Amino acid sequence: MSYAARCPNMNHGRTNAPVKFCPSCGIVINKMAQGSCNQNKHADLRKQRLSFCHDCGKSLKIL
Ligand SMILES: [Zn+2]
Ligand SMILES: [Zn+2]
Repeated sequence: MSYAARCPNMNHGRTNAPVKFCPSCGIVINKMAQGSCNQNKHADLRKQRLSFCHDCGKSLKIL
C-alpha cells in the first residue's frame, strides 16, 4: 500500500523526516524520530488543523 501517493504531506518523501507520524494520515514515517508531546501541544496541533499528532500518532479529530 502506498499512502505516500495519496497523502499530500511532504514528509513522506523525505528519507530523514523529523516526525515520527504523518500529521495528515497518521501512519509511521520515521520510527527513529523522537518527539515529546502533551495535551497543550495536541491543542496547538489541532489549531493548525492537523489530523494526527506527529509525535504519538494520536488522532486529533476527537474532542
Ligand atoms: Zn501522510
Ligand atoms: Zn501526541
